[in-house]
Amino acid sequence: MLIEQPPFLYRVLYPKALWRVKIPHRKTVYLTFDDGPIPEVTPWVLDVLDRCNVKATFFCVGDNVRKYPYLFNELMDRGHGVGNHTFHHLQGWLTRSKKFLDDSNEADRLIGSTLFRPPHGHMIFPQPLLLKKNGYKIVMWDVVTRDYNAKLSPGQVLENVKKYTRDGSIIVFHDSLKAERNMKYALPRAIEWLKEEGYTFELIPAMPKISRNTGDRDNPSMPATATSP
Ligand SMILES: [Zn+2]
Repeated sequence: MLIEQPPFLYRVLYPKALWRVKIPHRKTVYLTFDDGPIPEVTPWVLDVLDRCNVKATFFCVGDNVRKYPYLFNELMDRGHGVGNHTFHHLQGWLTRSKKFLDDSNEADRLIGSTLFRPPHGHMIFPQPLLLKKNGYKIVMWDVVTRDYNAKLSPGQVLENVKKYTRDGSIIVFHDSLKAERNMKYALPRAIEWLKEEGYTFELIPAMPKISRNTGDRDNPSMPATATSP
């Protein structure tokens, strides 16, 4: 319970983060995928989402985007949202804040999204503040499927979705090798169940970009190298 649905005490650690997005009079959910894109799993996810006519938000690891830019383009071409999950999947608790921010900005040069999800949900002061100052919106979650956990059966992962999803839930799956077995079973069944329950699927709303001093992707008149370290 404490893992699948973050408790109040955990949420207040990051009060400015997005945990759940309720829209009045509508039953919405927000599917999200962390850790990709990778060729072994992400194309399969994209095909399922297309078949079900569902859009999702992918929190990408920058290094995977560097390795598989065609997969990243495919995410965008098919109308999904993207967010930043750092370049090297760093854990905030174990990383100096400057390094954490630099690594996130490095990923941003490839991903170009204001949405940011910290790996494992871990951050220490002042990382959330630094991210906010740099124009990122921190997106946590309301339901963790725990698809990455090999001790859970695929059926248990599906049950987590059914048990914990509520209006406005941001739901986390993973397009990763670790999660592949559980996710491949649970995802299509979860979508089917959510539709039967009357949920519609939305993208996490992105914020307008602000220009950062780490690169000038937003300003095409200036070459990125002009201000990059
Ligand atoms: Zn992750």
